[in-house]
Amino acid sequence: MNEYDSAKMFDLLEEKENFELAKSEDEADLLILNTCSIREKAQEKVFHQIGRWRKIKEKNPNLKIAIGGCVASQEGEKIIKRAPAVDIVFGPQTLHKLPELYNKKEKTNLNQIDISFPKLEKFSHIPIQGTGEPSAFVSIIEGCNKYCSFCVVPKTRGHEVSRTIEDILNEISVLADNGTREIHLLGQNVNNFKGTFKGEKSSLAKLIELTAKIENIERIRYTTSHPHEFKDDLVEVYDKVPQLVSHVHLPVQSGSDRILKLMRRRYNIEKYLNLVERIRDVRPSMSFSSDFIVGFPGETDVDFQKTMELINEVKFDESFSFIYSPRPNTTASDMADDVTKDEKKKRLNILQDRLNQLSFGFSRKKVGSIQNCLVYGQSKRDPGQLQGRTICNRIVNFPSNDIDLVGRLININIKEALPNCLRGNIHN
Ligand code: SAH
Repeated sequence: MNEYDSAKMFDLLEEKENFELAKSEDEADLLILNTCSIREKAQEKVFHQIGRWRKIKEKNPNLKIAIGGCVASQEGEKIIKRAPAVDIVFGPQTLHKLPELYNKKEKTNLNQIDISFPKLEKFSHIPIQGTGEPSAFVSIIEGCNKYCSFCVVPKTRGHEVSRTIEDILNEISVLADNGTREIHLLGQNVNNFKGTFKGEKSSLAKLIELTAKIENIERIRYTTSHPHEFKDDLVEVYDKVPQLVSHVHLPVQSGSDRILKLMRRRYNIEKYLNLVERIRDVRPSMSFSSDFIVGFPGETDVDFQKTMELINEVKFDESFSFIYSPRPNTTASDMADDVTKDEKKKRLNILQDRLNQLSFGFSRKKVGSIQNCLVYGQSKRDPGQLQGRTICNRIVNFPSNDIDLVGRLININIKEALPNCLRGNIHN
């Protein structure tokens, strides 16, 4: 979501204010940091970066520093108190005000702070334009109402608000006309999308069906879905829409019902497993990934073992896992936490080893098969290779200098599995 927001900040400044991307930080008039506060570590990085930028500002006093995103939203003017080099603070819902805030700072030399939540206002300011990239993000629902006990998002991004389907389809059509072939629908709680279509409340399933009808859209993804709101129509859409990829990110967080309750996740493991089964009934090749929090306050060895059992049962593919990080103004931050840091690290290592093992196993099973891949571009490490993605979300590298293949779906013979990607050759 931050990548999408950052791209929109740039479009806005470029189109409305004729800004250009500076060649280096030293040549910039404005430096923008789009921040994340999901864990403490991400937040601390912000102040280190401002410290580096302060030195550039000492040499170039006209330089303005703007801090956006969730740390800005959470800390507001406290950012400027701690880091006086900062001139502008704006939140995820006020990014469209950046030109105005910049101009005001220029004129008055007064620091500018706007971290309000004016609902969907930003979408009427952001220019709708193509990216020319094979895959593009589109935000469809902003914010979250879930208030999971560990999570800062409802406080920093505000409450859920869905764009209208007409507005979203318009953005997707412009992207498709400019060469995009894969649409990645985004939301903190994307499957609770309730945008209207022709004035009536609609759903993510309906939006996926309508997106699939847009010419040249060959693949559709969505992130992140919450297991609690995964409705039947979304399960059924896997049967109806072949462009919908065979991979879903469905964060479970823990395999222990006791911990899930303390996390306020609103489902238990039985319900989660039932959902996985229903989706696999419709799409047997489906690949599942998840997020895991290890060392939630009071997590016992038994709770942790239940998470490991769940991993073995579902057989998750490439997942994300984190040590619990207490966040400001969340209910979990007041819970007693008697698990030592060393114990948490040990559990995280065990869990990550198992996830990596499973993921490598899935990759190895693909060796010898032919995979239909959307070509994304040149491999970053080796320009003699192109890079694509399989329908189940695996990165595939293959030797080719044919740039015309970028944005096309082609068949690749898979020859080799590496821990994080596959290698192959074009199938003739
Ligand atoms: N909306 C998604 C979560 C998005 S945040 C959901 O509800 O599932 C991405 C991931 O960061 C979460 O799934 C969780 O695993 C992790 N995370 C969030 N808050 C955290 C915290 N306080 N400590 C550690 N990990 C956290």
